[in-house]
Amino acid sequence: MRGAAPTDPPPVLLAGLAQVELRDPLLVSDLHLNAASPATLARFLRFCAEQAAAHAELAILGDLFEYWIGDDTLDDAMDAVSRAVAAALRALADRGVRVYVMHGNRDLLLGGRFLRETGAQLLADPCLVAIGGRQAMLAHGDAWCTQDPEYMRFRATVRAEATQRQFLASPREARLAFMGAARARSEAGKQAKAMEIMDVTPAAVDEALRACGRRVLVHGHTHRPAVHRFTLDGAPAERWVLPDWDFDDPEPRRRRGGYLAGGADPWQVVALAP
Ligand code: MN
Repeated sequence: MRGAAPTDPPPVLLAGLAQVELRDPLLVSDLHLNAASPATLARFLRFCAEQAAAHAELAILGDLFEYWIGDDTLDDAMDAVSRAVAAALRALADRGVRVYVMHGNRDLLLGGRFLRETGAQLLADPCLVAIGGRQAMLAHGDAWCTQDPEYMRFRATVRAEATQRQFLASPREARLAFMGAARARSEAGKQAKAMEIMDVTPAAVDEALRACGRRVLVHGHTHRPAVHRFTLDGAPAERWVLPDWDFDDPEPRRRRGGYLAGGADPWQVVALAP
């Protein structure tokens, strides 16, 4: 018998049109979990059990995993990372915490099986939400890195359905090798590019906010955590950039991770101690 496709289409996509209501969410992104980051994984598992479990919702805005070659990762006896994360999310869902996952550029192949096994729901990128009644837009953020045409071309290719179908049809070893090469290229490219090229383009963000009539945006991807307060068409607007996580940095001072507490008034970005 032929095996099932490694990743089947996600059953639920909460699109931008259907607004998602969040009461008391914690928002995280860019954990980049993988076997080479055991301390970050352990910190995330503790975060799920200690912080996220005490809130109504957990929203992961992309790049939960450093890479995802298909949902058959969950079958891999060697892959303790994906199974530990899936179990932690499932435990949250079982206690009544609503778990939302958005695709990042690293893990955009998270599919239907991952969602079924974790009890998570997939958020469209971008999507519209109300957080405690406050209207906002959530996104991963890479769609607005428009000053990097090379990245934008790559993004369009890997998001094409035909490319994904072809990739998922190839053997696991080939998918792993491809992903390893892509990650190496990405690292090499990052070192060659100016910092501002890899950030979002403010005008592209303005355009997206205008298009949906929102003045508050939460995104990740850039690894430049900040709260940007600016003026959009004469009225105040905010862009919250989530912190990336890395508790495996050899330099202890650079170990970091955190979340946005959307149930707090005002919103609060909380840094997690190692
Ligand atoms: Mn990213």
